[in-house]
Amino acid sequence: MKKYVLALDQGTTSSRCIIFSKNCEIVSKAHKEFTQYYPNPGWVEHDPMEIWSTQISVAIEAIQQKQIECDEIAAVGITNQRETTIIWDRNTGKPICNAIVWQCRRTAKMIDAIKEDAEFAGYIQKTTGLIPDAYFSASKIAWILENVPGAREKAEAGELLFGTVDTWLIWNLSGGTVHVTDYTNASRTMLFDIRKLCWDKRILEYFGIPVSLLPDVKPSSCVYGYTDEKVFGGKVPIAGAAGDQQAALFGQCCFNKGDIKNTYGTGGFLLMNTDKTPVESKYGLLTTIAASLEDNITYALEGSIFIAGAGIQWLRDELKIIEDAPSTEEIALSVEDTNGVYLVPAFTGLGAPYWNPYARGCIVGLTRGCKRAHFVRAALEAMAYQSRDLIELMEKESDMPISSINVDGGASLNNFLMQFQADISEKVVIRPSCIETTAMGAAFLAGLAAGLWKDREDLKDCISDGRAFMPAMDKEKREKLIKGWEQAVDTTIYNANCARE
Ligand code: ADP
Repeated sequence: MKKYVLALDQGTTSSRCIIFSKNCEIVSKAHKEFTQYYPNPGWVEHDPMEIWSTQISVAIEAIQQKQIECDEIAAVGITNQRETTIIWDRNTGKPICNAIVWQCRRTAKMIDAIKEDAEFAGYIQKTTGLIPDAYFSASKIAWILENVPGAREKAEAGELLFGTVDTWLIWNLSGGTVHVTDYTNASRTMLFDIRKLCWDKRILEYFGIPVSLLPDVKPSSCVYGYTDEKVFGGKVPIAGAAGDQQAALFGQCCFNKGDIKNTYGTGGFLLMNTDKTPVESKYGLLTTIAASLEDNITYALEGSIFIAGAGIQWLRDELKIIEDAPSTEEIALSVEDTNGVYLVPAFTGLGAPYWNPYARGCIVGLTRGCKRAHFVRAALEAMAYQSRDLIELMEKESDMPISSINVDGGASLNNFLMQFQADISEKVVIRPSCIETTAMGAAFLAGLAAGLWKDREDLKDCISDGRAFMPAMDKEKREKLIKGWEQAVDTTIYNANCARE
């Protein structure tokens, strides 16, 4: 009797497994952190073998906690940190070097060269939906082929395979027999034509990447293969895969055009379903493929906030003015407002719609009466102001009005923040009762392909309503606050420009 779906949620700092029942309840979960390597300033690596070993050990732990039998599992679904690049030997299954993580900046110069060629940079954006950046897999693959001894020759001889983390996990789960990725992950490599749905020859040639390295690309919900019997003691269909942000969009049941989700994690990610239209952005949003069923390609617009919950971690770990993140809610509510204080957490620059990599964090409006609580409240409000900026931009670029936002991520548990978000953006904010939407998305994609759920309507029935936050702030107050934020951002940019002169 098939009753469960096993979701593998392979993140940047930890590997997690959540087992969901047919009515979408969490039956069991386990997680394990793994090592981050920083071999040079700005470089970030993971050991692919550790990614695999932690992921499989948490899966087995979650299965054993509830003594689940292998034949009770309908399917395995995967969601993963995106863009992270792994290359391994197809004969031995061993990686030829560490994984280059999405955050790693080692190939920034390679990308600067592309940016100088406006025609090619434009071609990349038009074809892949992405603004050329070291963040995506393309330049990371090129770096490995150029710098790991013997890699180029082996790649030309067809002995190497490339994969993002989904591909690596599926390869290992299937006992080294299936080399595949899904559309959402392919669309983050900066090598994939998001309209023609194939690897792009011109970009591959530019980076010197042989096509034999690349996985087959399939829908996010489909049976890619089966787990090797040695893995869970039986064959289980591996039936869903999607990058983490696209999985969250699916897990939030954002199936319709204009549906939007905002994740408040370490960073923030706003994604909007634009259905069959790959909306081209003029102001720095990314066009990407959303998770969908079979070959029914759906697109999304994506905007990111570099520092969201990380600003709260900074209050806790660096300034040491709070005990823990949840305490910020009570502290913020202990005061009426921020007493005119704005915190612009541009620790690593400002993203869309400002795009200033040289900007640095800025606090404005300090007076003698400023207390810790004002400061904490300003840090929370900054997440909402930044999200509002992205929501406005997305409405403008997509030409689609937004009436509500689905939220998730650790900081979405903060009720003060959610109410302020509703007030300042004048949108209804909807928080599901289970904020594990990323893993849920992977489970939905796999469960649908394996027949545990009939169709997407089935899913809407099983996610339970959480809480809706209704906008309640009067217009005058909202406009005054937004003006203050915009002035604070202007000051931040002015400071950045002065520092460069
Ligand atoms: P990630 O998946 O990026 O690691 P999570 O979704 O687990 O992040 O969210 C963790 C982030 O959310 C941390 O940066 C933390 O500071 C912040 N956070 C967690 N709970 C709260 C809360 N109640 N209020 C404000 N911020 C919070």
